Amino acid sequence: MKIYHNYDLTACNSYRVKAVAARVFMPETDEDIAVVFSDRSRPRVILGGGCNVILSKDYYDQFDFVIFNSAFSACSVPGTMVIAEAGLSLKILSETALENELSGLEYFYDVPGSVGGAVFMNAETLGESVSDWIESVTFFDTQDLSFKTLPKQDLASGYRQSIFQHRPDWIVVRVRLVLLRGDSRAIHKKMMDNLTLRHQKQPWDVPSAGSVFRRPQGRFVGQMIEQLGLKGHACGGAMVSPKHAGFIVNYNGQATGRDILDLIALIQDKVSAAYQVKLELEQRII
Ligand SMILES: Cc1cc2nc3c(=O)[nH]c(=O)nc-3n(C[C@H](O)[C@H](O)[C@H](O)COP(=O)(O)OP(=O)(O)OC[C@H]3O[C@@H](n4cnc5c(N)ncnc54)[C@H](O)[C@@H]3O)c2cc1C
Repeated sequence: MKIYHNYDLTACNSYRVKAVAARVFMPETDEDIAVVFSDRSRPRVILGGGCNVILSKDYYDQFDFVIFNSAFSACSVPGTMVIAEAGLSLKILSETALENELSGLEYFYDVPGSVGGAVFMNAETLGESVSDWIESVTFFDTQDLSFKTLPKQDLASGYRQSIFQHRPDWIVVRVRLVLLRGDSRAIHKKMMDNLTLRHQKQPWDVPSAGSVFRRPQGRFVGQMIEQLGLKGHACGGAMVSPKHAGFIVNYNGQATGRDILDLIALIQDKVSAAYQVKLELEQRII
């Protein structure tokens, strides 16, 4: 396992906010995970791809980061099942499905982040959720220090919801997905069509962490923010994307977590005053 001190987190969060962690662990095996979480002397915060988080501090020394990345990303494909470790990227997961002529994960080709983060957030796009394809999730229970497996029906899956959001003591380790046999050309076409569509509508040329807010019942977040004239509005280096008002971008590479949070508070106040809608944050503040 790799252990780093005073580790630069800029490349570990998709907003590219500059922050440093006093200590970072990057597990490579199940044994590493057991070792890291057996030591209860300091709190631990998990990061996958960092594509749905806001780093609110410049320097983190109150807790350690445990980052699941390519160091913990094995993947096997027995039949129509795919077994993937938490650090595997969704992109490689869906490419693996394509290579094995398995359909189901096409839309996730273009959702940034790791398998663990996707299970935790129940990543969803165009009405399809990662949980639709999950058979079971193996996690590490940091209370009794053991590995356990939850079947699909116990994951409490909902819109961007999973049981892991209510159990910070459970660490997603690996997932078993059951996919459908498909035609590789059709699978590839669906991946590319979705990518093209999303890149037309969303800002992919500047750092962001996807949609900032959860979708409120019967309303479109981007539309409300746009109607308030907030597209292009900035707090420091954080700006409401001129392309899609549901995204905040680090437009000049200098945004701090504070800039992003100030802009979020401003949007929430204005939307609440104009529409009496309380916008809930989807992104996780660290
Ligand atoms: C351009 C862009 C477009 C996006 N489009 C979409 C989209 O269409 N649909 C969508 O759903 N999301 C979208 N997102 C958001 C993001 O891609 C997803 O939420 C993704 O699932 C986050 O995964 P991650 O590995 O980056 O998680 P992180 O950001 O690293 O972590 C998110 C949360 O999960 C927890 N976590 C991560 N790994 C584990 C683990 N192994 N065990 C326990 N907890 C863990 C973290 O502690 C944190 O609370 C987009 C982001 C960007 C930048």
